[in-house]
Amino acid sequence: MHDSRNLYEQLILEHNKHPQNYERLEGATVVVDAYNPLCGDAFKLYVQLDEQTFSAITFEGNGCAISKASASMLTEMLRGKAVDVFYALYQSFHSMLQESPDAPVDEAALGNLAAFAGVRAYPMRVKCAILPWRALDKFLNSNTAKSGE
Ligand code: ZN
Repeated sequence: MHDSRNLYEQLILEHNKHPQNYERLEGATVVVDAYNPLCGDAFKLYVQLDEQTFSAITFEGNGCAISKASASMLTEMLRGKAVDVFYALYQSFHSMLQESPDAPVDEAALGNLAAFAGVRAYPMRVKCAILPWRALDKFLNSNTAKSGE
């Protein structure tokens, strides 16, 4: 168990140090702001949504290692994927973060997001981890409401 925990910490540190898709996206159809005043995390997600697929997704901004690694993984996991993939991941991630720190983690459903299991012991950090996901969810929901006329 300790080995995998260590591996997870490494994964977060690695994404923080070398974030994936960390750039402004020219031609983004949507820019989503993700801001967590409690920590000062502030990111912009650049999204190109074609039909129901994220054809491109990048991010820029500043924040703690947890929020930055989470945003980095978000772009990595969603690029080229359908919106439904986002909803499934967000739901699994959200429920995992609500559980107690030693609750088992569904690695099959979470993929690399399982790396954030350790933040459950730190309620403030949970907000950092979920930040970019929550921001994207909020946007998609408001967008659905609008396009539904
Ligand atoms: Zn933070």
